[in-house]
Amino acid sequence: MDLLQQVLSEKGKPLLIINEFKFRKIGKSKDGIKWRCTVKSCTSSVCSDESVTTLLTSNLNHNHEKSSNINRQIVANSLKRKAIDQITTRPLKLIRNEVQSSAVDLTLNDVNSIRRSVYRSRRKTLPPLPKNLPEVHAALTNLDTSCRFHLTQAWWRNIQKCGLQTEYKNPDSEIGKWLHLIFGLSLFPHYEVEDVFINELMTIQPTNSNVTKFTNYIVENYISSTSTFPPILWASNTISSERTTNACESFHASFSSNFYSSHPNIFVFLKAIIETQTNTYIAINSIEEDKYISNRAYLVKKVAIESIIEKYKSGKITSKEFLKSVSYYYSKT
Ligand SMILES: [Zn+2]
Repeated sequence: MDLLQQVLSEKGKPLLIINEFKFRKIGKSKDGIKWRCTVKSCTSSVCSDESVTTLLTSNLNHNHEKSSNINRQIVANSLKRKAIDQITTRPLKLIRNEVQSSAVDLTLNDVNSIRRSVYRSRRKTLPPLPKNLPEVHAALTNLDTSCRFHLTQAWWRNIQKCGLQTEYKNPDSEIGKWLHLIFGLSLFPHYEVEDVFINELMTIQPTNSNVTKFTNYIVENYISSTSTFPPILWASNTISSERTTNACESFHASFSSNFYSSHPNIFVFLKAIIETQTNTYIAINSIEEDKYISNRAYLVKKVAIESIIEKYKSGKITSKEFLKSVSYYYSKT
């Protein structure tokens, strides 16, 4: 049987690899997922099941050689994700760890090209450096969104600003139910957010001028890949970006370990400050609440969300059901 492997393309789109040939995703049919060879002149296509573990049909007549750079693409892929998740770790250290654990033979050329792509993808997640004082101010006011905690805070503030908090808190309101769903977006893989927003949320959006105002805010700032905070910054199919921490860990050591340069990019520096701030909030909250209960509640939530993510990844629930189940854990009450 053929081994199916999924990776992401340079642009973050899903690719399927079968016997060193690459296929791009065409779409879903009621039988499964359709894929087509990435070589434009080639007509080979396959259909896989929803979870991409089995080929249902295949029509293979490649008119070209196998791809030569697949191993590099697989390593580069996984590295790019790590480069963004661990933005303050040196690229070479990431590459060393990855190469050691992946058993892939890479040449020096490969390593250099991977390093460039790690820098590129990392750079893409950072806004352009501010050039004057007003730009610095704008950058700072907009910066509170680089983790899920701050993201939901920002969205919630805008719901209030649009005069929708009463609807939001009313369990019988159609508008309120719809607003709750939006909070589930941050648990999707970043490359699915735009589609889910358009296909699942905009199609059932209640007609109301305040809702339109809120939707415009979300689209302009968070949904499109050209927005100020594109989904790659805030959406991921895991809850590991949420961390709890014990207070009183050696502050200096952990703070300075955030940097690998003595002159960090201002956004890298600010990201470290924001993470410190989030950890501080969490520490303060766990002083105010009963510590045992808050840890336990977090664990229960983590396990529940992980199981929902698993169901979605394996195709047992649709994106709409996923949205509904996870949004429950992220909405403000
Ligand atoms: Zn082909």
